[in-house]
Amino acid sequence: MAAVTQKSVLSSVPTQLFIGGKWQDSLSAQTFAVHDPATGSVLAEVANGTVADGGAALDAAVAAQADWAAAPPRERGEVLRRAFELLTERADEFAMLMTLEMGKPLAEARGEVAYGAEFFRWFSEEAVRIHGRYAVNPAGGSRLLTMQKPVGPTFMITPWNFPLAMGTRKIGPAVAAGCTMVAKPASETPLTMLALAALLAEAGLPDGVLNVVTTTDTAVVSEPIIRDPRLRKLTFTGSTAVGRLLVEQSAEQLLRVSMELGGNAPFLVFEDADLDSAVEGAMLAKMRNIGEACTSANRFLVHEDVADEFAERLAKRMGALAVGKGTKAGVEVGPLITEKAREGVHELVTDAVERGARVLTGGSKVAGRGHFYEPTVLVDVPTEARLLGEEIFGPVAPVTTFADEAEALRMANSTEYGLVAYAYTRDHGRVLRISEALEFGMVGINTGIVSNAAAPFGGVKHSGFGREGGFEGIHEYLETTYVSLNP
Ligand code: NAD
Repeated sequence: MAAVTQKSVLSSVPTQLFIGGKWQDSLSAQTFAVHDPATGSVLAEVANGTVADGGAALDAAVAAQADWAAAPPRERGEVLRRAFELLTERADEFAMLMTLEMGKPLAEARGEVAYGAEFFRWFSEEAVRIHGRYAVNPAGGSRLLTMQKPVGPTFMITPWNFPLAMGTRKIGPAVAAGCTMVAKPASETPLTMLALAALLAEAGLPDGVLNVVTTTDTAVVSEPIIRDPRLRKLTFTGSTAVGRLLVEQSAEQLLRVSMELGGNAPFLVFEDADLDSAVEGAMLAKMRNIGEACTSANRFLVHEDVADEFAERLAKRMGALAVGKGTKAGVEVGPLITEKAREGVHELVTDAVERGARVLTGGSKVAGRGHFYEPTVLVDVPTEARLLGEEIFGPVAPVTTFADEAEALRMANSTEYGLVAYAYTRDHGRVLRISEALEFGMVGINTGIVSNAAAPFGGVKHSGFGREGGFEGIHEYLETTYVSLNP
């Protein structure tokens, strides 16, 4: 097999809209540029969809809905299975594409392909396990039947940080359930979603089941789709601010809605923790995806007896990471997605330092081309520092201390977000106590990664609602009909 290069990947990636099984230009004939965040150079010009293109994509999804809902579950599952196999075969190509448009190092991009493909495999197996119930009326007489039906045409809006997995996590269950889709990827990283649509078509997904509209005119193109009475569901992954706006828009048609929003994950290290594995887990929870993950550890809350040692060991590891362009061998930390994002991270660090935080390592932008930021560890971070309350979305680890379990829980829960919390401890009683008390949709115990296609991913409070993955994932795309049957 020929080596996968930037050139080979970019020369074959689709750049048009995908509507009703056809690749087509935007009705405006306009395009927009996709940039490499490591160099600023233009990777591709992609069709800039209009309101009319969005309408055409929804028309195609609506037209395909009845046949797709009626397709045998095994057939729907087998499309996903083939897509899983194709993605796995082409892992290097998808990894290269993601590294180019998003910046993460190649090894991490390969990890995302493996993780993202799992959603196709998991939901290929779920497609054939959709079923209802049968019961006798407690009062006797009638029978109570329930059946599960696809919700119907679904609009999916995805972010740039995991260009593949945020797509497969929605497309997998929608395909399995029998829903048709309009997908709108982030304009920073549209290429992966376009390549994924081509792969699904090759795997046998019928025309019109998945339609992709790329655009920089996001709000203008999205709103009419969300307000269209033929749409049945909206699923969004992105920031809490945009999520809130979309929930308001979706109220008009009382859409089914899933929201995977921001996070502010606490990472608790108790005095009885195995510090070697706590530092290892911290590296994963903080540095995975350059810190640009909703699951990123945002606040390190460490027992005062072990805080100094933990912070020093973490700083040593963070300071030794190789920063650079993700396609370069040995690089462990890529660039942030845009200059605006890097500026935002630096402002948070500056604010903390001005309020008295101490820099153990990093703390600055990397000079030169690309939006690189030094892996940073801060200690003595005062509670009023902005970065303890806001999502950092970059390679910055603020460390603060607690005196006992009650204080640790109070600090961990004092955020409007509730996506994931991590804790390192060897006390099993504590594991249960804190898992019950933490106000988060997910809890990682002695691990820095919780994401798994077989588990329900999602948050509470301002991190949103709905679950992706696991047995729960498919129910986001199913409606229940209850039949009262008088024999
Ligand atoms: P964002 O909210 O700016 O954008 C997400 C998507 O929404 C993009 O496709 C964007 O084009 C689109 N969008 C933006 N404004 C819109 C509007 N007015 N109407 C319709 N669509 C609009 O977020 P981002 O900066 O791309 O992603 C980072 C955020 O996503 C972080 O807050 C992160 O925590 C969150 N995120 C959450 C999860 C999760 O599963 N909970 C996963 C990944 C990222």
